[in-house]
Order: sequence, then C-alpha cells, then structure tokens
Amino acid sequence: MEWDTPHYRASLSFLERAAHALDLDPNVHMRLQRPERALIVNVPVRMDDGSVRNFTGYRVHHNDTRGPAKGGIRYHMDVDFGEVASLAMLMTFKCAVVGLPLGGAKGGIRVDPRTMSRNELQRLTRRYTTEIVNFIGPQTDIPAPDMGTDEQTMSWIMDTYSAIKGYAVPGVVTGKPVSVGGSLGRAEATGRGVAYTIMEAAKVMPDFEIGEGTTVTIQGFGNVGGVAAKKLSKLGCKVLAVTDVTGGVHNPKGLDIKALMAYAKEHRGIKGFPEADAITNEELMALKTDIFVPAALGGVIGSKEAQNLKCKILAEGANGPCTPDGDKVLRERDDIFVLPDVLANAGGVTVSYFEWVQDISAFFWTAKEINSRLHTVMKKAFEEVWKLKQTLKCDMRTAAMACGVKRVSDAMKARGLFP
Ligand code: GLU
Repeated sequence: MEWDTPHYRASLSFLERAAHALDLDPNVHMRLQRPERALIVNVPVRMDDGSVRNFTGYRVHHNDTRGPAKGGIRYHMDVDFGEVASLAMLMTFKCAVVGLPLGGAKGGIRVDPRTMSRNELQRLTRRYTTEIVNFIGPQTDIPAPDMGTDEQTMSWIMDTYSAIKGYAVPGVVTGKPVSVGGSLGRAEATGRGVAYTIMEAAKVMPDFEIGEGTTVTIQGFGNVGGVAAKKLSKLGCKVLAVTDVTGGVHNPKGLDIKALMAYAKEHRGIKGFPEADAITNEELMALKTDIFVPAALGGVIGSKEAQNLKCKILAEGANGPCTPDGDKVLRERDDIFVLPDVLANAGGVTVSYFEWVQDISAFFWTAKEINSRLHTVMKKAFEEVWKLKQTLKCDMRTAAMACGVKRVSDAMKARGLFP
C-alpha cells in the first residue's frame, strides 16, 4: 500500500496490541488498519524571487465513524503519505480516548517553513487550501495546527475557504486567532493537558509527588513544550534542561522559564541562553529527572534511548515519540510511568473541539469555562485509561489505544457496514 512506511507500521503495531488486548472483531481490526480516504495534491507556489516551486501536500481521513474527521496540518520536511496516514490514525483513537464526537484526520506539506518568507507561506497555505477545499469543511473534516503551522496559518485557511464559499466559515478550522472565532485557551491547551495528565499520574503513583524539587526535562519549546514547562514550573517543578531545533540548554539548579521564553522569542530559539550549559538531545534524554516530556519530533525514543531514559514519568507531548522498539523496552523495564501521546497530548484537540462547538453555535465561552472543562475531560480520560489498564492487565499505551479502539469499534458496529 502507498502509505505503508515504517512510520505507518509503527501506528499499526500499537493498534495491533490494542486489538489483541481487546480481542477485537477481526473485521473491525481490518477496517481500522487502513485510512478511509486520502488526497495527494501538488501545490505550486510563486516564490519571492519570481520562480515557481512545487510542493507535495496530503490530507488523510483515517476514520469518521464517530463524527467529522479532525486533525492538524503539519509543515515539515519529513512529511510523506505514510507519516500523515499514521498520524491520522492516532487522531482517530485520540479523539475517542477523550470522548469527542469526532474522527481522525491529518494533513501536511513536505516543506521547511523556516526557509520561507511570510508571503511565500501565505501563498503556499492558500493554494493548498484551494486544492483540498472539497475535502474539508465544518461537517466533514476540520484541520488545526500541528508542527510548523500556527494560528496565522489557520486564519489563511479560514479566509481562503470562506472566500471560495462566499461567506465566513469559522468552523472549518480550529486553532484560529480569537479575532476570527478562535477559542480562548486553545494555544495553551496541549501543554496544559500534558501537565494535567502528569498530575493525575502522580496521584496513582506510590511515593511520587509534584512540587518543590520535582525535576523536569523537555524536548521542544514551542506550543506544547513551552507551555508544559510554564505550567509545571508554576507547580514548583524545576526544569533542568530543554532542547529545541536550534540547540539545548541545561542548568542543574533549574532554568528560569520566563526568561527562557523571552529569550526564545527574541532569538527564534533557545540556543545561547545565558546561565546554562549547552546540551544535546541525546544527553537530555539520558539525564536523571523525575519527568521527561518529549514535545517535538516523533520517533525519537528507539530501543537505545529507551534503555538510557532515567525518568519516572514519560509524558508524550509529541505524537509518536516512541518507536515500537522503544516501546518494547519501556514495557520490559516497567519502571517508567508512560503517559502515551493519545492521552497526554489530547488537550489540544479537546479545546479544538470546544472551539468548533463555539463556532457552529456562534456562542463563546469564558477562559475559565474552557480550562475547567478541559481539566474535567483530561481527568476523566486518565481515570478511564487507568481503569482499563487494570482490567486488561496491560501497559498504559496499550490501555489508552484500547480505550480509543473500543469506542470506535462500538460505533462501527452500531452503524453497521454499508451497504
Ligand atoms: N495537531 C494536534 C494533535 O496532534 C491538534 C489537532 C486538532 O486540534 O485537531 O493533536
């Protein structure tokens, strides 16, 4: 199959473990192994120097049994059909784990957005939107930000889609600026959700408390890693080390997160932050810490990295940070509390759902309402996954996947196979 890449096979293997744990109907399993539909588009863009370049874009619906498909759009050089399809599958189960009436989708363009000007990015985004315009919509498929895209990208998508339809359609994307129907709290939602699940994990772990002196290391300092760092340091935690695309910084006494954020904003990265030593990703992952949050690229924890981890909690802010080999090592070690991606980073899509609900009902909520509803959703999802882990006698990742798979499977069975 065209999407059958190592990346796709990784998600398949996690699905397989969940299917096994649940004794899933083989017909349902077979259907979940493939995306429902996919679009591959060419995106020609006039560059600032007058030349024209072609970029390849994708949008994949993995499953829309429970509702419109939902998932981000990624701009990154690693984007290919297999990666997008794999991430779309994770979205299906992520939405189900937190109980959203949505399916799973993902999109992406193979491009390095850091090498493009703002005008080039705008033309790229608008042309991509035009190419997928009949594939997305508030009742069918609702994109959102992911790696390399942000609220500005979502505004351009909303504007292009609305211009083509002839009227404003805020509900076509989430993660928009508040001025065009975005939700309060959406930008911080993923990082906030990561912190909430860590707090829940701490409650069920013997001899583990979050507070003064709890140490944290974080890979990635964007929307997810940066916000998680802020939230955890507010709880008293000491953030020892952080890495991003530009480099890494380490201070055994704890980094000043506010200062680091200001520095990263000014210098477009954390590299060179004073009062800290440089650190590589590999060193960061082997650092002794209470909590490690991978919040950047996928596939960073293979078997070697998993063996070297010295954390008590692994909270996956990123999508797919563990390879199946890395996951196997973690299961064998059994001394690290794993908060898998489909649970730990589900706060983002949860507030995306709130944003969509607000847009289609044209009635907006307060930040307080949003954050407290997010907290309720994340807490409930953790408790359900934790309970299922005891019932199925399995690891946390398999339990989280099984929780999502079971809900999708129940919906598929209730709807039946057409015709
Ligand atoms: N890209 C985010 C994720 O992977 C958010 C998706 C969304 O909000 O639809 O969960």
